[in-house]
Amino acid sequence: MPSSLAGGYFKAALPEITRDTRWVIAGIDLPSHQMTLERAFLAPRDAGATADNFRSLLLLAALAGTLVMPLIFNAAFYRVLRERFVIWHSMLTLSLLMTIVVSSGLAVILFDPPAMMLSRLTTLLFGMTVASGAMFTYHFIEPELMHRGLRRSLPWCALWAGLLSACHAAFPFIARPVQSSAYTAAFAPILAIFLISMIDAVRRGSRAARYQAIGYAPMVVVGFVRLTSGLVPGMLSADAMMLFYIGCIAEVSFTTLGMADRFLTMRRERDRARTDADVLERLSETDPLTGLLNRRAIERQFEDLRAEGFSSLAVIDLDHFKSINDMHGHAVGDAVLEAAASALQNDRDVRAYRIGGEEFMLLLRGEDAAIHGERRRRAISVCIANRLPKLNQVVTASMGMTHLIKQDCFANSYERADQLLYEAKRMGRNCTRGPVTADHLSKRSSAA
Ligand code: GH3
Ligand code: MG
Ligand code: MG
Repeated sequence: MPSSLAGGYFKAALPEITRDTRWVIAGIDLPSHQMTLERAFLAPRDAGATADNFRSLLLLAALAGTLVMPLIFNAAFYRVLRERFVIWHSMLTLSLLMTIVVSSGLAVILFDPPAMMLSRLTTLLFGMTVASGAMFTYHFIEPELMHRGLRRSLPWCALWAGLLSACHAAFPFIARPVQSSAYTAAFAPILAIFLISMIDAVRRGSRAARYQAIGYAPMVVVGFVRLTSGLVPGMLSADAMMLFYIGCIAEVSFTTLGMADRFLTMRRERDRARTDADVLERLSETDPLTGLLNRRAIERQFEDLRAEGFSSLAVIDLDHFKSINDMHGHAVGDAVLEAAASALQNDRDVRAYRIGGEEFMLLLRGEDAAIHGERRRRAISVCIANRLPKLNQVVTASMGMTHLIKQDCFANSYERADQLLYEAKRMGRNCTRGPVTADHLSKRSSAA
């Protein structure tokens, strides 16, 4: 029996009518679903082959086409967040898209399936829609905003829907004539659980459920019409078809909006977490007394700064600092350290770090690095004298400075500068040794 372009209808040619014809009796053997066989009428030609019907099919095709957008959106979304509800939403969208095609005249135009295949496809797609809808809800609604028992029953609903439709599609005639009604009625608990879950999640303040509830509203009405028309003789389910198509689109559109909303929330949370981590990292790399970066920071930045042209490294140590603490107290010692730190800053070509008690490190760039470094070292005494006039003593510093050599790691460069600092201390303090390269050092040690 061929399908009619009207969608959901089939056409059977009348036998030849003669003067003696009194009755034409149509007996239907195959597709047994009540909804596909609840009404028959006589028409001079295919009732769907009208300009009006083609116009509405065109409109329907355009609407169905809009469902491709959420699929593309989902693919992009999944690449970023790898959430399972995205996959179930794609399944749901796909099954609704195919349902629109199969239950309207579009399937007849596209691939004109035999009646039995159409019936089976409708059944399977309905099961797939309900199952993927339940699984989407299970993964999408915030778990803490839905009753645990209800949430746990959703995967069982999905399984039940899948099994029901698979069995009904595979064995459509086992329990005729009650099978069709029993099949429809078996979906009632799923619809009930689904409704109660939605109401429960909305009442608990779930944003995801709110989007879903709005999207599902037309579909729930369709569900009721189908359920009652399947159970109450004389009611037509086809009347709900237009509402059903609108329901499909509404469901996908609003759940897509809900997912976009979730996407934004997740991104906001991720950005906030990143900012917090940045703040923590900055804190862990900053010396609280002087505000300078510490050794952890220099170790992290070392290679990058070298790539940016920083080519010299200096270690500075205050001379006889312990005696300042001993004579003036720890608080004055701290103030001296702060003053020393401020003397090392405000030079574009010099980066200053506090690497230990009264020990600082400089990374320098430019041809005049040695001059810049020496200027900073001397500025320490001036800065301390200006800030702490009551100290009545000149605080000096010693410095060891070295060039950075390619492929030399931070530890080696530090070691070299430290040796030079030690030399400066030995030579009487308040002076600088270096900058020298590793070659100089190795020549000097081999000469020795
Ligand atoms: P040298 O010229 O050989 O470097 O002698 P020094 O006294 O400067 O060196 P030493 O290593 O003997 O003493 C460093 C002192 O710095 C010892 C420690 O109490 C003090 N110190 C370390 N950290 C702080 C700090 O944060 N605040 C204060 N006030 N003192 C500190
Ligand atoms: Mg010292
Ligand atoms: Mg020291």
